Amino acid sequence: MALYNKLIVITAPSGAGKTSITRHLLKTFPQLAFSISAATREPRNYETNGVDYYFIPLEEFKARIKKKEFAEWEMVYEGKYYGTLKSELQRIWNNNQVPLLDIDVKGAIHVQQQYPKSLLTLFIEPPSIEELKKRLESRGTETAESLQARVNKAAYELSFKDHFDKCILNDDFKRACAEAETIVQEFLEIASSPRSSQ
Ligand code: 5GP
Repeated sequence: MALYNKLIVITAPSGAGKTSITRHLLKTFPQLAFSISAATREPRNYETNGVDYYFIPLEEFKARIKKKEFAEWEMVYEGKYYGTLKSELQRIWNNNQVPLLDIDVKGAIHVQQQYPKSLLTLFIEPPSIEELKKRLESRGTETAESLQARVNKAAYELSFKDHFDKCILNDDFKRACAEAETIVQEFLEIASSPRSSQ
């Protein structure tokens, strides 16, 4: 049960490539499980409820905040709420796996405050704001307005990079994945060592 209560958080400005790195880590380490967040935005056409997110209505989200069901939550974009349910973390720990959270920077800081001892936080840094804007454009999921909102938010979020355990520059996807792999491997080894007291 040494992995019990351990957490890994990957955070970055939107478009920095954290979701691709998250996928790579999930494929590489069977000890990890994706923490499915709750969100109030509309699903994209390739997304499945209960796999990518638990898509829930705003009123239900707010009611669940009141009932303290979230480990952390944020209004990530105007009127759009995202959060990690405590029950989701528990579900993963019950499977003797480590939740991997792909969440925004403020959410990551809240998790740090709540689970300071059991946590690894990775910040994925885009090579530049211009590059990040290009990536978001080529993804084709944003309107001009939401793209600009994401770019503005990214510039702000970059200023938090020193708050996290490790910062990985994603200028080369393969190299960034390899770096993330080494860091996670080390964390899991320490976490499952019999001497680990965390
Ligand atoms: P998207 O709408 O592109 O799926 O996600 C937008 C942003 O919300 C991403 O930065 C994503 O990491 C973040 N996000 C997803 N789930 C959560 C969550 O549970 N909590 C927080 N704080 N942010 C989240």
